[in-house]
Amino acid sequence: MIPFQNSYARLPERFYARLPPTPVAAPRLLQLNLALATELGLDAAALATEAGVQVLAGNLVPPGAEPLAQAYAGHQFGHFNPQLGDGRAILLGEVVTPGGHRRDLQLKGSGPTPWSRGGDGRAAVGPVLREYLVSEAMHALGIPTTRALAAVATGEEVFREIPVPGAVLTRVAASHLRVGTFQYFAARGDTEAVRTLVDHAIARHYPAARDARDLLEQVMVRQAGLVAQWMLVGFIHGVMNTDNCAISGETIDYGPCAFMDAYDPNTVFSSIDHAGRYRYGQQPRIVHWNLARLAEALLPLLAEDTDQAVAIAQQVLAGFGDSFQAAWLGGLGRKLGLAEPREGDEALAQDLLAAMAAGGADFTLAFRTLAAAADGDPAPLRDQFLDRAALEEWLPRWHARLAAEPMPPAARRAAMLAANPAVIPRNHLVEQALEAAVAGDDLAPFEALLAAVRRPFETPADPRYGAPDPDGNPGFQTFCGT
Ligand code: AMP
Ligand code: MG
Repeated sequence: MIPFQNSYARLPERFYARLPPTPVAAPRLLQLNLALATELGLDAAALATEAGVQVLAGNLVPPGAEPLAQAYAGHQFGHFNPQLGDGRAILLGEVVTPGGHRRDLQLKGSGPTPWSRGGDGRAAVGPVLREYLVSEAMHALGIPTTRALAAVATGEEVFREIPVPGAVLTRVAASHLRVGTFQYFAARGDTEAVRTLVDHAIARHYPAARDARDLLEQVMVRQAGLVAQWMLVGFIHGVMNTDNCAISGETIDYGPCAFMDAYDPNTVFSSIDHAGRYRYGQQPRIVHWNLARLAEALLPLLAEDTDQAVAIAQQVLAGFGDSFQAAWLGGLGRKLGLAEPREGDEALAQDLLAAMAAGGADFTLAFRTLAAAADGDPAPLRDQFLDRAALEEWLPRWHARLAAEPMPPAARRAAMLAANPAVIPRNHLVEQALEAAVAGDDLAPFEALLAAVRRPFETPADPRYGAPDPDGNPGFQTFCGT
């Protein structure tokens, strides 16, 4: 039924623990991603049958699957843990899509593994649907991300301070290799394994790379681009530990993530991120820090001489700032309707952000309403600002800059509306949808929101999907108890 072509399972045994998922009591399909199934070359109708749901729940290991839990380590909030690993996930195997892309199929919440460290190995319906929704939203926004193929309720309870319904998510990723996977072997002094992993990562993600140095550089470029894309839509990952930093450059592990409402670079939602380590504006620095940990793990492969290896690593990582700035400023330019970068654009963009901070403007809507303002209708933009002083100073500068643009107005308008989403998964709507799904067993709000976030660049038919929380939610927090 699923044409597996596994490559990770061919790696040496110390890369994983082989074990099947733990069966659950009463699987029930909550959500199946038909478009993704088709993209993967899978038979969606077959996945929706009773036998298919048994597979998605972990009750039935399909032919060709080689279930395993992957080994990895990681820095969590700056502290190294040499032994993390899949504590509640099982990689079923890999498929090669009709388009020729290799994809992992992983069950998350599939029961305990040797890496569970006292955890139950399970996931709850709320966080599973949250990851489903937000990862689909990110994909629709054009941001590299793991995807969600299915969510299945287990019919069992899990305890998260209180009993809550359990679920299994089928996660699809280009791979689940992380910075922490390299750290796992480097911490053990197992250079042979690091070399094997480098070869595996290059074959899967960076076929043009010739060696560990190239790999480091290309991961850096992708991660710099990724974090810029996050920031251009106001996304805060929330737990950018090195084990949540994918070698493929995909967004992975939607735990305490959230989208910012009013622009404030110090925004942090995660209840456990007391120091604001993973706050919005700090994300580039943290990705850079994570890449330095990858570089450390690769050191023995960069040069025989340690000083020389360190020099190579530093030289590569020194390119991070330029990579990030190019992606960030290029993206801001598109958001502002500027097709050709010019001197002064950076200051223009920064000053808009400063005006948004001073004016309490909603990040998403302030950018979205720029298209109308460019066409001579500034009222919707002004409406986003409580304090307009800085905005009023900024508008004539921007209009002067736009006048120097060669793009015809209609093309500019289309380009701006395609760079500035109208719909993001608003925190209050996500909470309402999950509440209805978990407490009321009602998936209708979830499905309606999912449909809306899948068309982020269209003005939504129902204006609630494009609007900030009417009650405001200044104390909004996200929780790691996933
Ligand atoms: P995360 O915060 O989801 O990135 O997870 C960090 C580590 O904790 C990983 O090694 C996970 O496998 C493990 N973990 C998270 N939740 C559980 C759970 N409920 N049971 C067992 N391990 C878990
Ligand atoms: Mg993780």
